Amino acid sequence: MRYYSTNRQAPDASLAEAVVRGLAPDKGLYMPERIKLLPKPFFNHIAEMPFKEIAFTVAEEFFGEDVEPDTLRKIVYDTLSFDTPLVQVTENIYSLELFHGPTLAFKDVGARFMARLLGHFIAQSNDKKEVNVLVATSGDTGSAVANGFLGVPGIKVYVLYPHKKVTEIQEKQFTTLGKNITAIEVEGTFDDCQALVKSAFMDKELNAAMKLTSANSINVARFLPQAFYYFYAYAQMVKAGNTDNVVCCVPSGNFGNITAGLFGKKMGLPIKRFIAANNRNDVFLEYLNTGEYRPRPSVATIANAMDVGDPSNFARILDLYKGSHEAICAEISGVSYNDDQIRETIDKTYRNHGYLLDPHGACGFRALEEMLQPGEKGFFLETAHPAKFLDTVEGVIGENVEIPEKLQAFMRGEKQSVVIPPMFSRLKQFLLERQ
Ligand SMILES: *Cc1c(COP(=O)(O)O)cnc(C)c1O
Repeated sequence: MRYYSTNRQAPDASLAEAVVRGLAPDKGLYMPERIKLLPKPFFNHIAEMPFKEIAFTVAEEFFGEDVEPDTLRKIVYDTLSFDTPLVQVTENIYSLELFHGPTLAFKDVGARFMARLLGHFIAQSNDKKEVNVLVATSGDTGSAVANGFLGVPGIKVYVLYPHKKVTEIQEKQFTTLGKNITAIEVEGTFDDCQALVKSAFMDKELNAAMKLTSANSINVARFLPQAFYYFYAYAQMVKAGNTDNVVCCVPSGNFGNITAGLFGKKMGLPIKRFIAANNRNDVFLEYLNTGEYRPRPSVATIANAMDVGDPSNFARILDLYKGSHEAICAEISGVSYNDDQIRETIDKTYRNHGYLLDPHGACGFRALEEMLQPGEKGFFLETAHPAKFLDTVEGVIGENVEIPEKLQAFMRGEKQSVVIPPMFSRLKQFLLERQ
């Protein structure tokens, strides 16, 4: 399969090239040249299929031309070492719990898949030069990528994160690992971190000195595998008796997760429509309302993994719908909630339904509560475990939240980071010195 750039100014790439480069040379995002429609019988039997088999079927459509079936099957099976169960919360609303992986957030799926695929390509390649993964994080990407790549031979990971803008638990998950993982603490915002990573990919001197790639959701190997669990969610909806009028709501920041769902729909997944739930960083909602996309600096919220002012995957959504605002609005609607509304939703849902939401999932749940139409059933993506946002969640419900053992283990580690100002020259100097 060939991959083209959304900016159409760069040559097409193979899967291996697209994965190693991350961003295309013209700063565009790679897109697969074809999205294959899955056959009808697949959907007729999906409710009886195990998650891993569903995922492998979807993976073959994207990666089957480039990775041998046995290898691909192993990558998919290794990636999905945990379940993503659908849990009923109210009569019409279900939660797709994506927090049962090693770092308790959905990004484990994409990060584990990408680490394994990249490891496979490096092992196959004659070029024995080490690959350096640069990743900007607003919290959960860093931990998923760092843990996904920990100890993978031939790969070094640099996690850039905004100083004092991630929770202690999030920070511990990528600053305590050591080995091939380095945490770079940037005295700025997430957008600064993302801009630094983008500058690094564009810098000729740096790219001549070291092989760089990105593990942000700009990387096709990270965002495409996220389609797996949309299919599995649908399978579980069918099992629960909901075949038609299924609505999917995705708490969104960089819009990689929802884009994977939209790819699923293009492959024939019978989801009626999507809702993108935002916190106060709602440039996408504004785009839906006005037809104009105006990126702006992000503001800090309690759903910090969605504090994104210029969602990188917007380019992919535009491309997927051929730039048509009308077509986008026909399949996706949007909504935005402030911190008070998020807190209120966590509180009410816990008291009324006995279900504890994290601040991101709270946006998703509330959107369905407010926007489901008669006859529709919805599921939202519960993107992280509530214990990852301990202060917020405990403050809201006034009770202690049990911390899963996986998280406690991270908390016992010792933080190690390198602090830099948000200046590209400083990042470059640091990276060059490490070569
Ligand atoms: C990353 C993240 C999001 C946003 O996902 P995108 O793919 O960037 O839209 C939402 N919730 C949590 C918990 C996250 O970690």
